[in-house]
Amino acid sequence: MTPHFYPLPPRKTLHLRHLEALNNRCTTLSTTLEEKLGRELAGYLGEASLPYYLEISSISTHYDLYGLRLNLNGNKFQMDGLYLFEGFFLITEVKNFKNKILLNEANQLIQLQEEGSEEVFDNPLTQVELQKEQLIQLLDKHGYPTIPIETLVVFTHKKVHLTFNHPDLITSQQLPARLKRITQKYPTKLLQRNELYHLGRKLISLHEERGSAFINPNDKIFPKIKRGVFCNRCKPMIMRRIYGSWECPKCKKRNSLAHLAALEDFYYLFGHTITNRQARWFLCMDSVYTPSRLLQSLGMKRSGITKNARYDLSSLFKR
Ligand SMILES: [Zn+2]
Repeated sequence: MTPHFYPLPPRKTLHLRHLEALNNRCTTLSTTLEEKLGRELAGYLGEASLPYYLEISSISTHYDLYGLRLNLNGNKFQMDGLYLFEGFFLITEVKNFKNKILLNEANQLIQLQEEGSEEVFDNPLTQVELQKEQLIQLLDKHGYPTIPIETLVVFTHKKVHLTFNHPDLITSQQLPARLKRITQKYPTKLLQRNELYHLGRKLISLHEERGSAFINPNDKIFPKIKRGVFCNRCKPMIMRRIYGSWECPKCKKRNSLAHLAALEDFYYLFGHTITNRQARWFLCMDSVYTPSRLLQSLGMKRSGITKNARYDLSSLFKR
């Protein structure tokens, strides 16, 4: 079997990371934030489950790009999955819904909840068809030849119950067989492996990650954020800085690198750079000098000097 490329694997968005950091740092999240976190996480888990089904389809040579976000004439469009095969491309839209799913006569998608309520969504096929149109235009703009593009909506939740039979709205379990049939439709190789590789690299270079909003002191949630270096056993117990290490006052466990997890939360909550003052505040340190020594020891890029020095956390947490 030919090895597959995973140049842009499924990964958590900055927005999901932000919500996870909030969840880690706040005792309670508002219902809205909790729902957002649940939705984002479900989306990620759905996307992360797809490579397995692609792999077991045993179709050789494809180049898989997850979460690619491209700019077409100022409008951004994002595809959950884009798979480049030698004879065609495939765009997938992932839905991690559970329970009963219906398609009504107006071509809307209805999700029935266990407690009997229902939620209405636009048909995701319309969404993925639009992405196809945008991708065609973008490829044309960059001088690539026309290649057939297929679209599929994949329901990834183990407990989804589809009440319809539609070739392009399928469960993950149906994906390998569906993919085989699509592949048989396109026996002609339109692109060579190296061309696929170059196109893949090109698309990755055009990828624009969606930024995430950061918290500022005027935000309502700001006072709810718990600062300090957490003990990972006794969270939200805060560790104390003792003799160049961190110690938990409760379980007495020591960890000299415990500040890294706290700095990661800071990175996703407040921004990609940190000053000595911010570090002192967020890590709850008494000393003026220790935060500065700590930040310097991590070998981050620094701009500005002394009191105004800013450290670039991206080098530590870049995904
Ligand atoms: Zn502890």
